[in-house]
Amino acid sequence: MKKKTDTKKPYKSLMSNAAWSFRRLMKYAPSSFIMLVLCVPLNIAMTYAGIYLPSLAVAEVTNNSSFENALLSVGGLLIAMLAGSILTDIFRRLSRSRLGIYRYMVTDELTRKSLGCFYQIYETKKMRDLLGRAERATQMWGGTLPLVDLPTKTLSLIEAVICYFLFGTALTFVSPWIVPILTAAPIVNWLCAKLYRKWEYSHREEQSDIDSKLWYVQSKPSDFGFAKDIRIYGMAEWIRDMYRKLSSEKRRWENKSILRQFVSGLADLFIILIRDSGAYALLIAMALRGEITVDRFVFCFAAISSFASFIGSIIGNYNSMQSVSMYICDFREYLDIAEYDGTGEAAIDGMLELSPEITFDRVTFRYDGAKTDTLKDISFTIGSGEKIALVGLNGSGKTTLVKLLCGLYEPTSGEIRINGIPVKKFYRRDYYKLFSPVFQDVETSFFSLAETVVAGSGDEPDYSLAEQCMRRAGLGPKIDSLQNGIYTRLDKQVNEDGIELSGGEVQKLMLARALYKDAPVLVLDEPTVALDPISESRVYEEYMRLSDRKSSLFISHRLASTRFCDRILYLDNGRIAEEGTHGELVDKGGKYAKLFEIQSCWYRDGSGGSKESSGKGEQTNEI
Ligand code: ADP
Repeated sequence: MKKKTDTKKPYKSLMSNAAWSFRRLMKYAPSSFIMLVLCVPLNIAMTYAGIYLPSLAVAEVTNNSSFENALLSVGGLLIAMLAGSILTDIFRRLSRSRLGIYRYMVTDELTRKSLGCFYQIYETKKMRDLLGRAERATQMWGGTLPLVDLPTKTLSLIEAVICYFLFGTALTFVSPWIVPILTAAPIVNWLCAKLYRKWEYSHREEQSDIDSKLWYVQSKPSDFGFAKDIRIYGMAEWIRDMYRKLSSEKRRWENKSILRQFVSGLADLFIILIRDSGAYALLIAMALRGEITVDRFVFCFAAISSFASFIGSIIGNYNSMQSVSMYICDFREYLDIAEYDGTGEAAIDGMLELSPEITFDRVTFRYDGAKTDTLKDISFTIGSGEKIALVGLNGSGKTTLVKLLCGLYEPTSGEIRINGIPVKKFYRRDYYKLFSPVFQDVETSFFSLAETVVAGSGDEPDYSLAEQCMRRAGLGPKIDSLQNGIYTRLDKQVNEDGIELSGGEVQKLMLARALYKDAPVLVLDEPTVALDPISESRVYEEYMRLSDRKSSLFISHRLASTRFCDRILYLDNGRIAEEGTHGELVDKGGKYAKLFEIQSCWYRDGSGGSKESSGKGEQTNEI
């Protein structure tokens, strides 16, 4: 593993993170905040009472007080302590239940960010790793729950600081040496912990890299979609081997971390020993010299042991706050990632009724971290209502171009315009309304068929329209065969009565969703790849009906499908190599024609048939 010397500063300071968590706490669970704050003076009073009680009892005895007086003062204090601890306990329990609300509400901010974050950014490894670390802030991890621990530990720190000054002042009256002895020593401990934290923070990216790989490999055995390949291609041993390697790497990191914690803890113990012996020796010497009374000796003895715990609490809470603050840094860094939401200067009004003209003007795109451009200097226009077919070999950049068009990516250079307006001038969520895409790599979730189709349309769901769309997409027989029809739930791993759809059925469902959305621009990325010939032909027919008066972009490897399109763009290695109608391109005899020839010969009697007549619509029966 490559050594990292990155010692970059935390994203936000501890103070800033503490203030941030208090603002959230006041916003989402104000009653919890009030109760936690009320616990501070209560705890201080209880601590004072606890220290004062033995010396009070001794004073009552040494001053020869009457039994009634002693009972009244000592008993009264005990009753007050009991009432205080009951009240603190009630506050603590009530605030804990409210803290749950605060935790879920803040976690919801993370979920909202993940769901709405600009796709291009969301896809990068850096962002995925950051998300993994940000999620830790919301989860119980190694005995800490950063989101909750930061405000609670801050209040504990404030409480310990107040106690430090309160009892420090009392002890200073006894001897001016006690407080410096008790205070100076723990600084060594604080420095050790600081060194450990610095090491932890500077290596957190390597650790989260291992964590995310480990999580990925761990999740594979339970990934149903992967289960067939694992068995048939004998991948089990390979996965286990990978798991072993990653987990031993993880263990190495954990061992390093434990060793550093151990050294830091050892230094802590050593310092405590020196500190306490020094302070107690001083007090005993004073008592032997008769410089303090017995009850004062008892009070100071109890105060010193508590005083040491205040300092321990200040340092411990501060160290814990620093540790959990790192996770809050990741959480806030994730929330602060730019949204690229568009300026909103332009509105899509009018474009929903009449399909807009789309222009790619010298668009170049390079994936994050890639060495070369995937799309190079692409320029073309899709006129209002025009149907464009995008054709090209695997990896030529078709899907990337579609994602750019749909606003999932931003060009590295060049510009995409809608009716002459640059895309970034639209609010992104409005811009998405312009498109009804059907992507290749679609996934369904545990919703019902109907919910999947109407999902996110924003308006009141129209389930009868959803059913019509499903039937138009060829799902009629499937729906009729199901007891709950369109309300049947998907994913039988989550829903006991759920169903699994075949690849082709999922594609039909996604087409139904696009039909339901009925946006002015239709984008189909190989929508027939998993369909049987009858379904495929139905999709083409539906496509013709659906794309009437709509602008559309259609990717397909089946060149027969281009007969529905006004124009074909042939993409080769990220560039538009050829452009024209099917007939023009076949006549040209270039790369498209060659591809067409290779494909069509499989459909003719005998192999390697000659090139057929060209011209849009004529030759496609051959395919
Ligand atoms: P096509 O749809 O024509 O098969 P793609 O647009 O999917 O091609 O991919 C074009 C190139 O971009 C390929 O070389 C692919 O490896 C690369 N690519 C696709 N998606 C990503 C991604 N998310 N990150 C990095 N590279 C990608």
